[in-house]
Amino acid sequence: MNDEQLVIERCDEVLAEHDPKQVRPAEVLGAQYDAGVAWVHFPDGYGGLGLSPRLQNAINARMTAAGAPLPYARNPIGHGMCAPTIVTHGSDEQKRRYLRPLFTSEEIWCQMFSEPGAGSDVASLSTRAVRDGEEWILNGQKVWTTLAHVARYGIVIARTDPEQVKHKGLTMFVVDMQAPGVEVRPLVQATGEAEFNEVYFTDVRVPDRERLGDVGEGWHVSLTTLMNERVSIGGQVHPRGSGLIALVLHTYAQHRADAGEAARDEVARLWIEAEVNRLTNIRASQSRKKGTPGPEGSVGKLAMALLNQRMMSLTLDLMGPEAMLYPSGYPMSRPTTAMDLSNPQKAFLRVQANSIEGGTTNIMRNILGERVLGLPGDIRVDKDRPWSEVPRS
Ligand SMILES: Cc1cc2nc3c(=O)[nH]c(=O)nc-3n(C[C@H](O)[C@H](O)[C@H](O)COP(=O)(O)OP(=O)(O)OC[C@H]3O[C@@H](n4cnc5c(N)ncnc54)[C@H](O)[C@@H]3O)c2cc1C
Repeated sequence: MNDEQLVIERCDEVLAEHDPKQVRPAEVLGAQYDAGVAWVHFPDGYGGLGLSPRLQNAINARMTAAGAPLPYARNPIGHGMCAPTIVTHGSDEQKRRYLRPLFTSEEIWCQMFSEPGAGSDVASLSTRAVRDGEEWILNGQKVWTTLAHVARYGIVIARTDPEQVKHKGLTMFVVDMQAPGVEVRPLVQATGEAEFNEVYFTDVRVPDRERLGDVGEGWHVSLTTLMNERVSIGGQVHPRGSGLIALVLHTYAQHRADAGEAARDEVARLWIEAEVNRLTNIRASQSRKKGTPGPEGSVGKLAMALLNQRMMSLTLDLMGPEAMLYPSGYPMSRPTTAMDLSNPQKAFLRVQANSIEGGTTNIMRNILGERVLGLPGDIRVDKDRPWSEVPRS
C-alpha cells in the first residue's frame, strides 16, 4: 500500500466510525487527529504520520466530500502559525496538551508579535519578560492581534535580554489568554468588524515550562511562525476557478451588458493570473518536503495580496453604483472568524489588509530580492548594537 492509499484508508475509517452528518464537528476532527491525518506531515502521535505534506490535499478532499468540517477557517492563526511553531519547538508536554484541541478548534489561538513600535521590524519589539524563579513576568503591549478576543491561548515573543543585539535576547512563550493581567481591547477595521485587538500584559505570570524553544532563541522560533504565516495567507491551493476569481466571473456575468471590452480583457487577465498563482502554489507545496517553508511562501503571499486587490477593484467597478451600498449595515461587530469575504463590498475593504498582514508587500519584495534573487541586503544600521542602545520612539 502506498502512502496515499494509507491516508485515504485512515480517512475512511474515521468517517465510518464518526459520520460527520451525525456527530459534532469536534468529534470528527478529534478522530481525524487521532488517526494521524490532521496534519499528515506532523510526527506520529501528534496528529500526523510523518509523511509528505503533499498528501494533505487528498485527505482534505476526502474528508470534506463526506461532509467533514475543514477546521482552518474557525482557527486560522492556530492552524496556520501556532501549530507548526508548537510542533517544531514545543516540549512533548506542550505538544500533547495543545495540538489536539487546537486542531478541533475547541481552543482558539492567537499570535502576538506586532507592537505599536515593531511591525515589519518585529525584532525591535519592547514587551519584556523577566525571570522570577520558575516563572516569567510579562509586561508590554501587542497590537493587531487577530482573534485575541476569542483565543484561549496565544504565542507571544518578548525581550528577555535587552543587552543583546535586537535579534538575540528574544524568547517565545505560550500565554494563557485568561491569565490575570491579560487585557484584550477591540480595534475596528475598515469593514466595521473588530477582528483584531490590542493586547496589554501587566505583570502576567508565565510558567517557564510554557517557553517555546530556548531562552534567547525567540527569533529563530518566530521564523517558523512567520514563514508558515505567509504560506497560510498566500499559499493555499484551492480548486481552479474558486475563491475571489469566481466572484469576479459571477459579477461580470451579471453586468456583461454594460461592462465593455476593456473589462472583458481584465477579467481574462485576472483569471489567468489567479491560475498561474494557484499552479505556482501547487509547485511550491510539492517541492516542500517537510518542516518550515522557504522564501517561496513570500512569493505566493506577495502575488495573492496584489491580485486580490485587483480582483475586488474590478468587481466593484462592474457593480457600478450598487457597490456604494454596504449590505450588512455598518455596526461594529466582533466576529469569531477572520477574513469574512461574504459580500463584495466587505471583501473589497478586507483585502486591502492583505498587503499588510503577514508581512507587507515591501517586505515580501525585500525577501524575494535578497533570498531568491541574491540582491544586496537592506541597510541595517542597528544590527550590531545592543537593543538597549538603539534609539526608538
Ligand atoms: C488584518 C491584519 C491582521 C493582523 N494580525 C496580526 C496578528 O494576529 N498578530 C500580529 O502579531 N500581527 C498582526 N498584524 C500586524 C502585521 O503583521 C503588521 O501590520 C505588519 O507586519 C506591518 O507592520 P506595521 O503595521 O507596524 O507597519 P510598519 O512596519 O510601520 O510599515 C509601514 C510601511 O513602511 C514599509 N516598510 C517598513 N520597513 C521597510 C523596509 N525595511 N523596506 C521597505 N519598506 C518598509 C512597510 O512596507 C509599510 O508600507 C495584522 C495586520 C493586519 C492588517
